Amino acid sequence: MTHTPQDTAALHARHQAVLPSWLSLYYEHPLELTHGEGRHVWDAEGNRYLDFFGGILTTMTAHALPEVTKAVSEQAGRIIHTSTLYLSRPMVELAERIAALSGIPDARVFFTTSGTEANDAAILLATAYRRSNQILAMRNSYHGRSFSTVGVTGNTSWSPTSLSPFQTLYVHGGVRSRGPYAGLSDGEYIAACVADLEDMLQQTAGGVAALIAEPVQGVGGFTAPPDGLYAAFREVLDRHGILWVSDEVQTGWGRTGDHFWGWQAHAGKGPPDLLTFAKGIGNGMAIGGVVGRAEVVNTLSANSISTFGGSPVTMAAGLANLSYLLEHDLQGNARRVGGLLIERLRALAAGLDAVREVRGRGLMIGVDVVRPGTDEPSPEAASLVLEAARERGLLIGKGGQTGATLRIAPPLSLTVAEAEEGAGLLGEALREAQSRTAAS
Ligand code: PMP
Repeated sequence: MTHTPQDTAALHARHQAVLPSWLSLYYEHPLELTHGEGRHVWDAEGNRYLDFFGGILTTMTAHALPEVTKAVSEQAGRIIHTSTLYLSRPMVELAERIAALSGIPDARVFFTTSGTEANDAAILLATAYRRSNQILAMRNSYHGRSFSTVGVTGNTSWSPTSLSPFQTLYVHGGVRSRGPYAGLSDGEYIAACVADLEDMLQQTAGGVAALIAEPVQGVGGFTAPPDGLYAAFREVLDRHGILWVSDEVQTGWGRTGDHFWGWQAHAGKGPPDLLTFAKGIGNGMAIGGVVGRAEVVNTLSANSISTFGGSPVTMAAGLANLSYLLEHDLQGNARRVGGLLIERLRALAAGLDAVREVRGRGLMIGVDVVRPGTDEPSPEAASLVLEAARERGLLIGKGGQTGATLRIAPPLSLTVAEAEEGAGLLGEALREAQSRTAAS
């Protein structure tokens, strides 16, 4: 059944009347997506879109991937959930596979239902292990929406409260395009950030529990530090006994193309102590979790369970999805097709003065939008691009501290033809937004 635009508008009005004001929606006329296939989704009015954002939202591999649908429906037909108080074969199997992939020797895995809860668990473990409630986090970071994860979120547009259960110290390193670090070489930048970290630790009384960091900042606008930054941090952390928690909620499972995990671009001194994951691993089913060194994960002295974390139906999805992406080398696909897409977008940007930078790793690509001819980030222009892209049948995201970065993260199975098509549509949308911004 196809709805009219009026039906969608009525649903929007009901949404606004009953859901919180801060649960913001994309687009002036928000979308109601009703089904998907591969890299495409359809709205309730029957319009089809190429999905250049859903890959990072949840649908990492492909919409309605038959292998995942089959695994979920077979498991749901048997039993959806029992309790983590009983043995579960799918949970043990997925934990074994993730432990083996983590690169952490003697790894232990704990499943949750979201990225927020995964990071919350990591913080609980790190603070309990180190007996400290001091945490290092990165400026411009995002780690979740709970009280604890907001307390380590440096991106203030996603920090709805300034209260925090921790003493959080924010470190430089996530974004260098602006401010005093702009213009430094990679080596100089790393040295400056390390010196800043050392200085901060010298001025901090007591032992810090952990550094939590996204290898590529997601909500923060897909900004990656130079390779090796976290390896250089690690040397300092090790000297102080501070744990390294890598938030791989957006960067895991091959998305960055060159590596399976984002931390592997910083692998100088081996894997992090704890690594958190969520979003795409279930290809749309609610899975999150933390994997880490046994000594740290086993630190809790009382019971701590997540009622739905590790439910058989989500684990079945995770197992089917993981098998698919490994068997089809989707990490390699992210590297190849993502590389081509970045090239196309850079070529486009060269002719547009509303674009300041195109950057990316694999299928995680950020495009900074500015007021044409200036260096000033323009969230208004970014919103215009989103709308213009939607009108042309392309969905993209936005982010960054001011919302002026376009975020492109298609499902990992994106084809070359779809990459070319999406780049063309985005080019048209950028040109339209540029001419409208220049005219206003
Ligand atoms: N960490 C990162 C890096 C994220 O991008 C997100 C979600 N945007 C989260 C944590 C929180 O995940 P969730 O929304 O599943 O709670």
